[in-house]
Amino acid sequence: MMIQRIIAAALVAATLGLAGHAYAQDADYVLNTASTGGTYHPVGTAAMGPRDVNVVDPQLRVRGINSLRVADASIMPTIVNANTQAISMVIGKRCADFLARG
Ligand SMILES: Cc1cc2nc3c(=O)[nH]c(=O)nc-3n(C[C@H](O)[C@H](O)[C@H](O)COP(=O)(O)OP(=O)(O)OC[C@H]3O[C@@H](n4cnc5c(N)ncnc54)[C@H](O)[C@@H]3O)c2cc1C
Repeated sequence: MMIQRIIAAALVAATLGLAGHAYAQDADYVLNTASTGGTYHPVGTAAMGPRDVNVVDPQLRVRGINSLRVADASIMPTIVNANTQAISMVIGKRCADFLARG
């Protein structure tokens, strides 16, 4: 999926310090176009969902990358009508439950 390639490329570019490389431009694209719900409450850049186009599945596993989960505000499909910090803590708790279950 396109979004998985963008996220993976951005991670690789950041890790390798490839500023200015085409992969870094992908990261810029994500940063400049992702809907964040505001400066103080950014969400949704790795949105969870049941479909292949969703970055993480309902158990927070990154599609297309083994043994990688995301547990922060980025997995919210849309901005919630509540405090994002509290929801982020619940997401972390749920992820811990998933890991404990194996
Ligand atoms: C000014 C302000 C006021 C806010 N007020 C409220 C409020 O009143 N109520 C509310 O519910 N929410 C509030 N929020 C939003 C809330 O803080 C966020 O929704 C919440 O913290 C998101 O959690 P997170 O885990 O996704 O990200 P973060 O809390 O940002 O956690 C990310 C962590 O990753 C670390 N990190 C980043 N890069 C790396 C790296 N390369 N390697 C290792 N670690 C790294 C960072 O240091 C940080 O500890 C506010 C936000 C801001 C900015």
